[in-house]
Amino acid sequence: MKFIASLGAGAAVWLSLSLNAASAQDLNVLCAVQVEWCQMMEAVFEEKTGLDVSMERRSTGEILDRVRAERAAPKIDVWWGGTGDTHLQAAGEDLLEPYQPKNFEDTLPWAQNFFLMSGGKAAGIYAGALGFGYNSDFLAEHGVAAPSCWKDLTAPRYKGLVQMPNPNSSGTAYTMLATLVQLLGEDEAFEYLAALAKNIDRFTTSGAAPVQAAARGETGIGISFIHDAVTQKLAGAPMVIVAPCEGTGYEIGAVSIVKGTRNPEAARLFVDFALSPEGQETCAASGQNQIPANAKASLPPAAPDISLIRMVDYDFATFGSPDQRRRLLDRFDKEVLQTA
Ligand code: PLP
Repeated sequence: MKFIASLGAGAAVWLSLSLNAASAQDLNVLCAVQVEWCQMMEAVFEEKTGLDVSMERRSTGEILDRVRAERAAPKIDVWWGGTGDTHLQAAGEDLLEPYQPKNFEDTLPWAQNFFLMSGGKAAGIYAGALGFGYNSDFLAEHGVAAPSCWKDLTAPRYKGLVQMPNPNSSGTAYTMLATLVQLLGEDEAFEYLAALAKNIDRFTTSGAAPVQAAARGETGIGISFIHDAVTQKLAGAPMVIVAPCEGTGYEIGAVSIVKGTRNPEAARLFVDFALSPEGQETCAASGQNQIPANAKASLPPAAPDISLIRMVDYDFATFGSPDQRRRLLDRFDKEVLQTA
């Protein structure tokens, strides 16, 4: 693979560092970013270290459920990617192992704050803003005007033309739920979501699925992270990307080591690599557009400039608490899903 071939001299150091671990161990990683990035990381990390990695893509909430279910006998060593507040929920339930990555000092302040907030159990690896993308051809064919605000999405003209993920499985959708609560207040957010549900044609398991469906012309509007919509646009879809006019929330994507891992040395090696400039640059190399946490990593050329987006002061501590998550998801099930 071209990217692997260009890794250069650092690879030899990594290889020698990891030979002990490589001789006996596999590493089981659950990955919540896009499958293209998961596969790229697996290939590059294996090439660098000689470790045999099992990398499976799952949505963020599904990973939290799996790590919870395996609490007594963990099979997963590393949880890589996915929205940080869900990692914080796992940290709050004592499901994660503390570890400070080697490149921590090179990470940006938002990543360092996130790490401290997790009690040293989850490290920020990327950031990105929430929004939506619409297929301009699809909306033109249906003769409907384009949306630019959250409130537009509840208009009757979009009935059956919007997809969003389900926050029980998707970290993207949990970020959306927490964002709306912070933007509108909790009761108003649930009223808004109940109104929006009337326009939703499908609640998807994964966070990127709605915008991918919009890119294929299967729906008009997909609610997602803006960087996921950018990826679809770059792939040639007639996608218009919207940072909602009222403001929006954002994620800090994270990596963490599962408490009781059977492969701690390999798990730490993976986390170190994930935060290294080379590890961070596998994002752009796989066509993804998140903002890297390591200040020494180069930014994907098409990564959205989140400083230009009106953003809530996202309260990771509150929305990263297990009790809040349970309560908000219960309300979502009762007041949104069951009435849709
Ligand atoms: N895809 C991208 C590009 C992301 O940044 C994230 C969140 O970290 C996800 C997917 C999360 O996926 P899901 O919403 O399915 O949990």
